[in-house]
Amino acid sequence: MNVADFLRPHINSLKAYSSARDEFSESDTDLTFIDANENPYQSGVNRYPDPQQKQLKALWSNYIGIDTKNILFGNGSDEVLDLIFRAFCEPQKDNVIILPPTYGMYEVLAQLNNVEVRKAELNPNFQPNEEAILNLVDDFTKVIFICTPNNPTANNFDQDIVMNLIKKFNGIVVVDEAYIDFSGRESYLSQIKSYPNVIVTQTFSKAFGLAGIRLGICYATAAIIAVFNKIKPPYNVNELTQQKGIERLENINSVKHEIKQIVTQRERLLKELVEISLIEKVYPSDANFILVKVDDANLRYNQLIHLGIVVRNRTTQALCENCLRLTVGTEEENIKLLTILKSL
Ligand SMILES: *Cc1c(COP(=O)(O)O)cnc(C)c1O
Repeated sequence: MNVADFLRPHINSLKAYSSARDEFSESDTDLTFIDANENPYQSGVNRYPDPQQKQLKALWSNYIGIDTKNILFGNGSDEVLDLIFRAFCEPQKDNVIILPPTYGMYEVLAQLNNVEVRKAELNPNFQPNEEAILNLVDDFTKVIFICTPNNPTANNFDQDIVMNLIKKFNGIVVVDEAYIDFSGRESYLSQIKSYPNVIVTQTFSKAFGLAGIRLGICYATAAIIAVFNKIKPPYNVNELTQQKGIERLENINSVKHEIKQIVTQRERLLKELVEISLIEKVYPSDANFILVKVDDANLRYNQLIHLGIVVRNRTTQALCENCLRLTVGTEEENIKLLTILKSL
């Protein structure tokens, strides 16, 4: 695959803005910086951040085992998803395919970028309908968004189906792995070498416990990452975010411990939720949340709010009638949830 064949024509010919901190960085300690109109007095963050996040990227590259040339960080993975639209999708001409029920931002970003969205609903078992998806493809289909484990259904997609889509679709396949750390399966990022049309996204917002710093991750071929580097805002990951990310990576054992706790709590909730009479179905989960079908989602949602518990009502989503999405909390929070559900 030649990435240039899939890019919007003007992105191909675009020249990147070279920012001051691209050319020289603070690690050159002997230098006097009067190039970026910064305030020279130290505040800890008086300098612009490293546009390439070299220190964080080196640590992450080492942790994940993939070259830094294949990694891009974004202001949340939502920024990464937006870059994908801006690089590949010509407004009012190209289209993308999503698989409802799924993460709402794909459609919002498509609308924002004035790009047509085609929808291939999941099968009733929440697996992708390969035939329906491929039937939607035409010459202007640029991207298929695959979310696995999927939000809000919480399940991993069948690997054979995902691989078939990657192999058969002549365009970009985005695999959104926001919940990969809870899933116990391997990442699709190992596929990038063999299938250069794959882009994998992950995030520090869920398992890494850093939703507040907005740090998203993208893996792709070096050619695609080079394009994203060209079109991203130069200082898209701020200095405090880079510092917090580094700090968390240096304490990776506490991240792993928290993931273990959450998975243990998930298994406990899965067992106990089935015993509750207003819950008609508990769907399996490979993520840090559980989708349940209740007797009356709007009623139960409001009752829970009155009792101080906020859940996500997914009843208007495809295949999710009367479904609530419950995030796995701490042990105390989960006990509170179970106690209240039993009392209703
Ligand atoms: C939460 C979530 C994200 C997270 O995005 P950030 O912008 O990195 O916080 C991405 N994809 C899915 C499917 C999610 O559920």
